[in-house]
Amino acid sequence: MPDRKYIKYEELDNGLIVRILLNRAETRNAQTRGLLVELNDAFLEAEADERVRVIILGAAGTTFSSGHDLGSAAAREEKAPGPGQHRSFTIHGGRRSGTERRMLQEWHYYFENTRRWRSLRKITVAQVQGAVYAAGLMLAWCCDLIVAADDATFADVVGTRLGMCGVEYFAHPWEFGPRKTKELLLTGDSIDSDEAYRLGMVSKVFPRSELEERTLQFARRIAKLPTMAALLIKDSVNQTVDIMGFSNALNACFSLHELNHAHWAEVTGGEAAVGTPAFGIPERREAPPIAPARKDI
Ligand code: ZN
Repeated sequence: MPDRKYIKYEELDNGLIVRILLNRAETRNAQTRGLLVELNDAFLEAEADERVRVIILGAAGTTFSSGHDLGSAAAREEKAPGPGQHRSFTIHGGRRSGTERRMLQEWHYYFENTRRWRSLRKITVAQVQGAVYAAGLMLAWCCDLIVAADDATFADVVGTRLGMCGVEYFAHPWEFGPRKTKELLLTGDSIDSDEAYRLGMVSKVFPRSELEERTLQFARRIAKLPTMAALLIKDSVNQTVDIMGFSNALNACFSLHELNHAHWAEVTGGEAAVGTPAFGIPERREAPPIAPARKDI
């Protein structure tokens, strides 16, 4: 068994279903590099396993994922040169500099990873509760289906909190719709699981206490389908949206995302690759709470 620090990997129903859990509940499952690398390994292990038909991606604790880990001690240590540095910061552009380094690192660990998980040869079901924020959305969106607890909320706050044009995997217009995407990114507001259901982004909304069991029941239904039919259904939809421009649009928006980082790096003299208080972005700890998007407020 591989040594897993940030991920829990469970085989259910004699391996027919694999449940992968983000296991950093104490940090609201903020995504460190170590977590993302372990998650990729876990996905590829489940993909390779001939018994597996459905992969559930869930999370321990109250929160699915609050996004990328932007500053915990663990995140700082794995980035800084030294004995605690994660190997991934020395490969895939990690030893280059400036925009080149950032672009290559984000391409590999945020963008291409997420796109690879979307194309896994198994059916994937995201099981989400609590906050699904920013890069948390990327992990839910790359799955074929999303099942939510009634307490789940969805938001991409990088516009209002970091001065960025959305997370690296820009599936927002495909998931929220074009105009809702502009509203949510320009305000930083959230939608709840009922609204996500209404948009068609979420397939089921279950009481929080029943989320795990009922997601498993849902996965068992899907696991009954012949694997060839399941895969071709998945690929028929994915190829359709690719022909509609999904993958090209994601490529284009990743470039815009990197342009946005480069702007902040330039105007802050290399201090920060995201917006700072000098440019109207609130201090991290003083940012107002994320408000629900309401039609009358
Ligand atoms: Zn970025």
